[in-house]
Amino acid sequence: MHTTAEYLWVDGAQPTQRIRSKTRIVELNGGPVDPWSFPEWGFDGSSTNQAAGDDSDVTLRPVAVVPDPLRVGGYLVLCETFDDAGLPHASNTRARLRAVLEQAGDDHAPWVGFEQEYTLFADGQPLGFPKDGYPEPQGPYYCGVGADRAFGRKMVEAHTRACLEADLMIYGVNAEVMAGQWEFQIGYRGVAGETADALTVSDHLWIARWLLHRIGEDFGISASFSNKPVSGDWNGAGNHTNFSTRAMREPGGMSAIRDAIFALQTRHAEHIAEYGAGLADRLTGLHETCSIDEFRSGVADRGASIRVPRQVQERGRGYLEDRRPGANSDPYRVCALLIETICGVSGATATSESPRASAALVGAG
Ligand code: ADP
Ligand code: MN
Ligand code: MN
Ligand code: MN
Repeated sequence: MHTTAEYLWVDGAQPTQRIRSKTRIVELNGGPVDPWSFPEWGFDGSSTNQAAGDDSDVTLRPVAVVPDPLRVGGYLVLCETFDDAGLPHASNTRARLRAVLEQAGDDHAPWVGFEQEYTLFADGQPLGFPKDGYPEPQGPYYCGVGADRAFGRKMVEAHTRACLEADLMIYGVNAEVMAGQWEFQIGYRGVAGETADALTVSDHLWIARWLLHRIGEDFGISASFSNKPVSGDWNGAGNHTNFSTRAMREPGGMSAIRDAIFALQTRHAEHIAEYGAGLADRLTGLHETCSIDEFRSGVADRGASIRVPRQVQERGRGYLEDRRPGANSDPYRVCALLIETICGVSGATATSESPRASAALVGAG
């Protein structure tokens, strides 16, 4: 049967990479669908900051597949990019995460959950902002309800539904502190038998970002992942990254959490350097952030770099929240760094080994 496959890949834009896509008609012959069901493909890298014009072909290799919630019978096919020597493209940060995971081994079993904040824009203004000037100051918008508090919910609902129908590990959704700002979480859901490995969750976040941009087209609304979409007394947008290893989740895990925080403290600058462009505008020490030059941790402290949720402290095990990553951070890079630092892996380099070995299997339809 012929159907649509939307090939997604992360481009080479600087300083912030973005997701791109194009459509291929594929013939699937029934049975389970996995990344191998889809052919390798290519694209013009000179138009995505991934190649020069005279040598422009970059290879797309499918690595994860989910049902396409927007096209009946179709699939979203997330790809890694490879150069003509068959090596991961310099912009292929997923390959780096694979290499780090391989070095770390299976024992750490890192699980992740992202809180992706974003801001909806129409006609150059965040939703809820009047044409000129500002709305009522922050206060009523966080988790607010009502046409004077929540702006863009129809689109947010469509996105939530789409994430569910794409079998993404969406965890929740809420309106944020600034008018027109929202958050969705993707990752560990506390469901028995469900894991949340760093590669799968990062893939899901990139696919969820693509869905947000794509659904925004239908609403005439664009989603911004800017760290500080409006300057002044308005919250920035982050991508809080919740992280645990097996040791942190097991009884007595609090000591592993403390060790992790200590390790993170020693590499604060390295993490900040890769946690998103324009981070200094957001990490000011105000608006529920810790200043970019400072490293602090605390239980239930939303002004810290690393927060240990109160519930985790009470249970004596669980996870930590890294509050530093910006909304525009690359989940592959954030996870690679966290695993390097917390699991003691150093200097992993991306290899050409087939990414398909780690790709998740999904059922047909
Ligand atoms: P906050 O109180 O910071 O707003 P949220 O409720 O928005 O937190 O999100 C909680 C996040 O924590 C989710 O992304 C979820 O996937 C993640 N999470 C929960 N437990 C774990 C765990 N054991 N390991 C990693 N991430 C976790
Ligand atoms: Mn949250
Ligand atoms: Mn938030
Ligand atoms: Mn948070």
